[in-house]
Parts: sequence; C-alpha cells; structure tokens
Amino acid sequence: MSQIDDLPPLRDVIATHDLRAKKSLGQNFLLDLNLTSRIARVGGALDGVDVLEVGPGPGGLTRGLLAEGARKVLAVEKDARCLPALAQIAARYPGRLEVVNADALELDTSAHLTPPWRVVSNLPYNVGTELLIRWLTPASWPPPWESLTLMFQKEVAERIVAAPGSKAYGRLALLAQWRCDARIALTLPPEAFSPPPKVHSAVVHLTALPEPRFPADPQVLEQVVAKGFNQRRKMLRAALKGLVPDVEDRLRAAGLNPTDRAEQVPLEGWCALARELA
Ligand code: SAM
Repeated sequence: MSQIDDLPPLRDVIATHDLRAKKSLGQNFLLDLNLTSRIARVGGALDGVDVLEVGPGPGGLTRGLLAEGARKVLAVEKDARCLPALAQIAARYPGRLEVVNADALELDTSAHLTPPWRVVSNLPYNVGTELLIRWLTPASWPPPWESLTLMFQKEVAERIVAAPGSKAYGRLALLAQWRCDARIALTLPPEAFSPPPKVHSAVVHLTALPEPRFPADPQVLEQVVAKGFNQRRKMLRAALKGLVPDVEDRLRAAGLNPTDRAEQVPLEGWCALARELA
C-alpha cells in the first residue's frame, strides 16, 4: 500500500486522541487512506476546486481530498474531540483546510466556499438523508455545488439511483434524478470501517444538470410525489384523492393511468402531473 502523506496512520491518530467511536454521532471511520483517496477521486480531478466535507472525524477522507489536490477543504465536524487530529492535518497543508466545529444542519457553508465547489462526505447516517434533500432543493437551480460524492448505507444509495418499477423507487429517486445524473460509484463491506456498521455501504455520485430533465414547479412536484408514494400500494386515483376534486380527469390529462401505482410512474409522468396541477 502506498503512502499518501507523511502524517501518522489513522489507527495511531485514533489511539493518540482517544477517538472512541460514538454511535449517537454515526461514527464509523475509514482507516484505509488508499480507499479514501479513491473516494476523493470519484468526481474527477480536484485541482482548482473547493470541497465541503461534512463529518471529517479523524480525517481519513480529509487527507485523501488534500492529497488529491483539492484547492481547499471546508470540514464541518460536530464532535470537538476530533479537532486536535484535524489541526495536525491543517498544519501539514497550510491554508488549505478550514475546520469548523459545528452541526452541519445549522451552518451556512456557502459563505466559507469559493466556486467551483463540490461536496465529498462519508455522512453520519442519522443526518445523511436530510442533508442530501437540502442539497437537492436549493432556492434556485443550478445549485451552488457542482457534484455530490456521498457515502450512505447501501439501501439508501439504492433508493437514490432506483428505476421505476423497483421496490426502492420513490421520492428520493425522483428528487435526485429530476435534476442530477446519479450513480453508485462503489460499494463497501462493513469491514472497510472501524467499528464495522451492521450494513453494507455505497458511495453515490450525483452531478448537477444545468436544467431539470422535464419542466415542473419544484414545490408542486414534491407535493404530488410525496402524496403519491405515501400510500404506494394504492392506485394513483386513491393515493392522490383529495389533492384536487377531479383527480382522475387530471391524471388522464397528464397522460397517466389512474389505476397505476406510484412506483410504475416514470419521472416524466410525475413532471407532467405536476404541470397539470400547477
Ligand atoms: N469522514 C470520517 C471517515 O470517513 O472516517 C468520519 C465519518 S463518520 C461516518 C461521520 C462523522 O460525522 C463523524 O465524525 C461524526 O462526529 C460527524 N457528525 C455527526 N453528526 C454531525 C453533524 N450534524 N454535523 C457535523 N458532523 C457530524
């Protein structure tokens, strides 16, 4: 295995700073720096790009991002115990690592970043989906970020890239695929982490499209999709009952079959329905 930097191995960093993993913070650390460099490269070369990393922990992915040439990494970490380890990395890469001790859900990160910027994170499981939804629903499109490279539980990653007709297909797939290209870049077994989680994990890569694939008002689309999948086993005419008085007619006007179920309707159909109801 090749060395990516001259800092101590992550096992030593964790022992030196007594970073025993806390379950409540979703702490499962990556210890293999060759793997973290590989994750850092998923979205392509990082030269001239700022990176937002949520939850750097002891800094394995942070080191990968810096070694791979990121112009600057903004690392937002809630757990103050990690700060001395991250300070060591900042000293190794002068002026290129800014660490903020904060809850990523509370921080306005855009003030700390210069375009172009990307997000690359091994997300804490308890806030991962919420952060993804926030990144996917900015005030206007295109979003301020170029791409998102994010580690999730494999089951969540499959929901993001799911195709119509599959069990995993739903709100998350539609939200992601409406305005992004989304793919699973790699999957990882539990043993890749310390401590190992109970499930497999996967890195999803999302690239922002300049425009949505099909026109629709974001709020109407979100409302219709949420209601449609809320009772996913029901036919559309029942699942969407109460949304408008003449729901069957509106479904037909949008080119949809009122007796279909939500999981059978492709993205284009949901956008047509959102336009019909707007
Ligand atoms: N990036 C490291 C790695 O790959 O080894 C750690 C990943 S670990 C899955 C998630 C990290 O997110 C932990 O360091 C945890 O303390 C941090 N974290 C949890 N909730 C957070 C929040 N709301 N805001 C910022 N960081 C958070």
